[in-house]
Amino acid sequence: MAAFQSALMKVGWWLVGVVGLSVLASDLLGRQLGLGALGGGEEGGKVALTFDDGPSPQLPALLDLLSRHGVQATFFLTGERAEGDPQALRAMLAAGHQLESHGYTHRHALSFTLWGEARQLGWHPQSGREGRLYRPPWGGHSPFTRLLAQRAGVKVVLWNAESRDWLAQDGAALARELLPTLRGGANILLHDGPDEERSARTLELLEMLLPALKARGLEAVTLNDLNPRVIGWRAGWARFRDMWRGRPATA
Ligand SMILES: [Zn+2]
Repeated sequence: MAAFQSALMKVGWWLVGVVGLSVLASDLLGRQLGLGALGGGEEGGKVALTFDDGPSPQLPALLDLLSRHGVQATFFLTGERAEGDPQALRAMLAAGHQLESHGYTHRHALSFTLWGEARQLGWHPQSGREGRLYRPPWGGHSPFTRLLAQRAGVKVVLWNAESRDWLAQDGAALARELLPTLRGGANILLHDGPDEERSARTLELLEMLLPALKARGLEAVTLNDLNPRVIGWRAGWARFRDMWRGRPATA
């Protein structure tokens, strides 16, 4: 009996080890290195503004700002928010913005069951459209994220430049920090909302960023126009190094 219990314990620890290692490996390869996901575009005269977490109640002000600057962007929406605001989706599409998925709900990949994550990846604001993209909340990966994305017919896309508009600093200061880090091909992470305070910060950042990009000869386009490339080992290593140096980090 004691021998049986000890064998059972060994199997238990072995299972814990295998699960733990696969979770660590999926975070390292999927989020930190981002291998196989889409990242930035080719170096050139284009950058992409990408807004996560919407549609928020502050979206009309953001759309107004983008329209004043003649800029089209990409929005990664959650199903929960999008379903409650069909008017917002119509307004974004009418303005020529690109709509993609940030998952049905804003939860980390590891918080789902396998079926829950399949549902998370199955949602998209334009189901059935070709070339659909999915940006996982915080870039988080479970061991099944890429497999489920493939099954759902979506491509996982991350980012390679961060606005850090979630930090409690004024928008102009954030824009000053961001600008020297931007190159052609940048896939810039920003947020739509989620509340008035943070939205005001993002708008202030954009009011400074957009004219500065123009002055540097960089055109802000949608991700489709940026044509993001698959992250290989070299770009993955650069992403990993920048992340640990403090830039970029998370969505
Ligand atoms: Zn998010």
